[in-house]
Amino acid sequence: MTATTPSPIAAPAPKPSLVGLGRAELKAAFAALGVPERELNMRAGQLWHWLYFHGATDFSVMTTIGKELRARLADAYSLARPAVAAEQVSQDGTRKWLLRLSSTGPHDRGAEIECVYIPEVDRGTLCISSQVGCTLTCTFCHTGTQKLVRNLSAAEIVAQVIVARDRLGDWPGAAPPDGAFVPSDGGRFVTNIVLMGMGEPLYNFDNVKAAMDVVTDGEGLSVGRRRITLSTSGVVPMIERAGEEIGAMLAISLHATRDELRDTLVPLNKKYPIATLLDACRNYPGVSNAKRITFEYVMLKGVNDSPRDARELVRLLKGIPAKINLIPFNPWPGTKYECSDWETIEQFSEIVFKAGYASPVRTPRGRDILAACGQLKSETEKLRARARMMLESGIGAEGIYAVADG
Ligand code: SF4
Repeated sequence: MTATTPSPIAAPAPKPSLVGLGRAELKAAFAALGVPERELNMRAGQLWHWLYFHGATDFSVMTTIGKELRARLADAYSLARPAVAAEQVSQDGTRKWLLRLSSTGPHDRGAEIECVYIPEVDRGTLCISSQVGCTLTCTFCHTGTQKLVRNLSAAEIVAQVIVARDRLGDWPGAAPPDGAFVPSDGGRFVTNIVLMGMGEPLYNFDNVKAAMDVVTDGEGLSVGRRRITLSTSGVVPMIERAGEEIGAMLAISLHATRDELRDTLVPLNKKYPIATLLDACRNYPGVSNAKRITFEYVMLKGVNDSPRDARELVRLLKGIPAKINLIPFNPWPGTKYECSDWETIEQFSEIVFKAGYASPVRTPRGRDILAACGQLKSETEKLRARARMMLESGIGAEGIYAVADG
């Protein structure tokens, strides 16, 4: 008797997910099933409602869509979200999720990104990523130590909001996990979004814009544009477009008041120096006292924290409707920086406060789970070391402190 080796059976390709798609793409998905052109708007609207108002995870619940069409949808598509590879909950209620994205090809094991939820009594802020890794190399930022893997698609950006709402029970009829800290004002649990996770959002402009169109749509996720803050390290040529086409609140990773120092901390400064950046801020569409620009300033011991720096900061921002967030640096393994002493931060803050900027120091959140500023480092490059990384190291983004007001 001779043994035969069974021929390997290729695993079926996963069905494309509809989660995170925009209206035009949903229409295309129906068109591909042979739904007539005249029905496409209506069908896409129905699906939209189930996806983004109800958070449906199964086609079978979509009762406004006929049974036969639901079955065809389920045959061709899925409602899969990025997988939650790990979840950590801080003592202060901050939650951090490590999300594994679907593979994009045979050599992609599925990139991983981080997403952080910061609850307060009257709001819940979700910090999301726009890229896997980052091309920029801000020296105080842990993400800056990881190479850019790729831009996130618009759907992957939206999916972060969907997963957060799934995990928080933030859909009609759902409930939060036992003991979870969520806003208690009777409203939504995810009220604000900050694009401050991994990556430079203005280097992935089209996808960020398309994603924010989905997230702000009043018939679905319905997050107001003023409750979205886009944080940039200063991609000057894109700032005006961001204001006009995305219309979010703007945050600038400033961190220094002299070009010489900012060139080191935020190397993009060599291309777009402080004066050019601040000009772009002055001209940011819609900027006003009701729509102030947030300037993020990480406090680095002996580097940028002198009273002179504080006075220079105030001088530079004169005339720009601004908020200043002083961010106590949260060290990560391997960094050469230390956090400024508390006294120094207070002194700095006092100068800024006297110049008319209220409450400038942000309390670090999620320190026990390393979810704070500059610490959202994706483990894409270190998959095998995940368990250790989750506990000992950080995961890299630039700031979850600058929680948008309003
Ligand atoms: S601070 Fe932002 S732009 Fe700079 S390296 Fe980190 S993620 Fe990239």
